[in-house]
Amino acid sequence: MKDEFVSMASHELRTPVTIIKGYLELLLADEPLPLSTEQHQFLDAMSRSTDRLERLISDLLDMSRLESGMVTIQSSVFDLKDVISQAVDEIKAGKVDHCLEIKNPEGSPAVLVEADKDRIRQVMTNLLSNAVKYSPAGSGIMVRIDDTVAGEDEGGLVKISVEDHGPGISESDIENLFQKFFRVDNSTTRSATGSGLGLAISKALVELHGGTIWVESEPGLRSTFSFTIPKKSPEKASSA
Ligand code: ADP
Repeated sequence: MKDEFVSMASHELRTPVTIIKGYLELLLADEPLPLSTEQHQFLDAMSRSTDRLERLISDLLDMSRLESGMVTIQSSVFDLKDVISQAVDEIKAGKVDHCLEIKNPEGSPAVLVEADKDRIRQVMTNLLSNAVKYSPAGSGIMVRIDDTVAGEDEGGLVKISVEDHGPGISESDIENLFQKFFRVDNSTTRSATGSGLGLAISKALVELHGGTIWVESEPGLRSTFSFTIPKKSPEKASSA
């Protein structure tokens, strides 16, 4: 009943939040502004809170759908490099102060995978936004694509890693990191907003692809989140 309530409540909350967001955008886009500077600041604050609420509702809905087995993978063959650079561009568009770089595998013109494009973009966006959120402004974030990982599947696996130079994560916190609603209790996390659902959702999505997600960290220096997904299967090699 609790799961059903979360699912129903998040679904019902989505429509009014979308309407509030739409009208706030209209008011903020009205030029010349019919508002005082102070009123404009209030609207900006309302707009940021509405964005946060929208993210929380969408995470709750995703989590409840994943837990009830309602999410299925819509697989297609695509170049992983494109999806990763789209996710990086999306994060950069949010005016971040970090230096984001992508290291593609040498000598691979395309890294073809067989996966759900939107879901892989969702996992990437989550890992990248965490890297930005939990590491200092101005620091570097490196995304690496490694297409030489041997896997149980005939086609092998591709490994994607996101490394940041933030506070890192202690071994005891790593144990719980991918559980829903878990947030590390320290000053960096307390000052950043979040629901503690992003990594649990990412784990479920990666596992639906038959992949694995994990983190390695040197506390005080860096965190590296990595996940694997299957390469395009050999029988589709000739058709793509
Ligand atoms: P949220 O970011 O909404 O809190 P997540 O599930 O994405 O939820 O992350 C869970 C927790 O893991 C975060 O609250 C934070 O404490 C920790 N965390 C995630 N990514 C990083 C990172 N790159 N560096 C340090 N801590 C992190």
